[in-house]
Amino acid sequence: MTIPMLDLKAEYALLKDEIEPAILAALAACQYIGGPNVKAFEAEAAAFAGSKHGIACASGTDALLIALRAAGIQCGDEVITTPFTFVATASTVVMCGATPVFVDIDPRTFNLDIAQLEAAITPKTKALVPVHIFGQPVDLAPLKALCVKHNLKLIEDAAQSFGANYGGRMSGAYGDIGCTSFYPSKNLSAFGDGGLIITDDDTLAAELRVLASHGSRVRYHHHVLGYNSRLDELQAVILRIKLKRLNDFNTRRIAIAETYNRLLGDVVETPYADGKGRHVYHQYTILSDHRDAIQQALTTAGIACAVYYPVPLHQQEMFAATHGHVRLPVTERTAQRCLSLPISPMLTDAQIAEVASVVARAVRSAA
Ligand SMILES: *Cc1c(COP(=O)(O)O)cnc(C)c1O
Repeated sequence: MTIPMLDLKAEYALLKDEIEPAILAALAACQYIGGPNVKAFEAEAAAFAGSKHGIACASGTDALLIALRAAGIQCGDEVITTPFTFVATASTVVMCGATPVFVDIDPRTFNLDIAQLEAAITPKTKALVPVHIFGQPVDLAPLKALCVKHNLKLIEDAAQSFGANYGGRMSGAYGDIGCTSFYPSKNLSAFGDGGLIITDDDTLAAELRVLASHGSRVRYHHHVLGYNSRLDELQAVILRIKLKRLNDFNTRRIAIAETYNRLLGDVVETPYADGKGRHVYHQYTILSDHRDAIQQALTTAGIACAVYYPVPLHQQEMFAATHGHVRLPVTERTAQRCLSLPISPMLTDAQIAEVASVVARAVRSAA
């Protein structure tokens, strides 16, 4: 690939003089579990997010699972979420013994269609899990109002939106609990797996910590079923260094998206930013009836691209028995027409122009 989806090599070249000595120092310090960098990262990430508590864990998936457990989600409960997301948003609901209820998306933002949410609430509903898909904040104020009215917990899946903001709060800090992921492709990424849970609530924070460490409040005393879910010291070292760059990197992503918008506005449906929050473009996702032709042309030109997501969650085989009958037309149509283009803070202006010209040529010859 001459242009990758995300240029981790260029990012590493930029940061290696800072990262390598810090890693070596952590190796020599030998505090591999619960070390000083993990504690410092939790405090720095919580401060960045404007949240009172930050609890690091092993992945974004674990962050969601632990958040749902701390919110009391259990057998027989329903949790409303989006079908247009990564599987972990809903698989973690099933891991709690509960049932995900999928509501269709808004065709422009790809986020939950707020107008359809209230009709999906039943006496069994216990939580809403909005996903800020591709980095664009969900319009959370009406969701919060529904949560207050129906006594639901609001758990934000901010895996793709760390550093975005909405309503004066950073992404993840608006709801009762926010979850994020440091998987290597995310806006703030580790060199392996990692996750973070944030909350302002002291009681929830204590429960989240207990659940992430084997359900133990006092060592070797276990009062609930918990998990072994930790961020390791080396990932914390890397994340502390990269957290300092996150705002700059997100600003660059926004600038790249604006350039793509200018170059592609007449060619395809460019991403719609609703302007209600700061969209941090985890992905730059276009819509086109010529999606497959564009994908083919980019691949031939050595330019990476990806379909996020080819199969909506209600149509996944794992949900066939429970959700096989569900029809969500906007999500299904979006899955057929969407394509994510390379977006990386390291992308050069020449590369952006090259991607755009291949897309434009493909559409012209397909039309
Ligand atoms: C990446 C992602 C997750 C899962 O995070 P991991 O760290 O890979 O476990 C959950 N939800 C969404 C929306 C994601 O993009």
